[in-house]
Amino acid sequence: MSERRKFIKKSILGSAIFLPSVANAFKNSPKEILIGEKPLILSTWNHGLPANAAAISKYKETGSILDAMETGVMDTELDLSNLSVGLQGLPDREGITTLDASIMTGDGSCGSVAFVRQVKHPISLARVVMEKTPHVMIVGEGARQLAIAEGFPIEKEELSPNAKAAYEKWKINSKYKPIINIENHDTIGMIGIDSNGNLAGSCTTSGLAYKMHGRVGDSPIIGAGLYVDNEVGAATATGLGESIIKICGSFLIVELMRQGRTPQEACEEAVKRLISKNDNINDLQAGFLAINKDGEFGAYAVHPGFNFAKGTLSSNIMIDSKSHF
Ligand code: ASP
Repeated sequence: MSERRKFIKKSILGSAIFLPSVANAFKNSPKEILIGEKPLILSTWNHGLPANAAAISKYKETGSILDAMETGVMDTELDLSNLSVGLQGLPDREGITTLDASIMTGDGSCGSVAFVRQVKHPISLARVVMEKTPHVMIVGEGARQLAIAEGFPIEKEELSPNAKAAYEKWKINSKYKPIINIENHDTIGMIGIDSNGNLAGSCTTSGLAYKMHGRVGDSPIIGAGLYVDNEVGAATATGLGESIIKICGSFLIVELMRQGRTPQEACEEAVKRLISKNDNINDLQAGFLAINKDGEFGAYAVHPGFNFAKGTLSSNIMIDSKSHF
């Protein structure tokens, strides 16, 4: 059993509450499951807990949900124990770590970077793309050049000790094939709503471990890994990026909520759609989080094991998502 899987198992045992289906939620659960407080912040996986804490503290300081979304995931980008976000993440099959990130606010402003090297905080670079350029997405060497021009420190290109050890091990039997399985992912996607109903989101990852050089996942693709619309709500994704891009996962969820689905129903429908469009479903995991403009929220995944952190001004807890299988 991998370290990551053990970690997930532990967190399931340690979780504060289980997320019921929408129908059950009406019958059995405290009202707060459906009627979310505002502000409300949701983040994928266990690293969501410290990320939410950082986001909430930033929100208390500036009152900006966008600042909160950036600062929250910066915490994960710096976490040296994390193998799926930031420069300490697992590399591609050439042994090079490349990062993807996106950020979006409910008025439609968005920015992203992909396939970027040597930048510790791709989320902040994505925010620069959003706020200081006429573009939405800048990739590769162009993104690194933008980082230099904006005064971001450029880090030495070397694998973290954990990533190096894992990469050396992978090389022994991998036959140079990227790993597609239900464990090989862990991006942080964060979505939040402020006390006035403004939404924002962020998403940052080192992507699929041992991917082909140049591969980009869903996380920096607006509409796939992240989508936010103040008129409706926000959604973010984690899991095998290829499966999520195929269904424009986050955009799909926001559009389903626009048509009247609850966040939970929208996430469940997106997972169903994803399953119908991907043959290798036993080998892939994908999970979604959604919030609507009333602060209601939902989560759903293909397989068990997906969890998320729910943060408010007064609490920050882990919740286990339900799953299709
Ligand atoms: N969604 C990310 C990607 O495909 C991976 C992950 O969630 O860990 O790049």
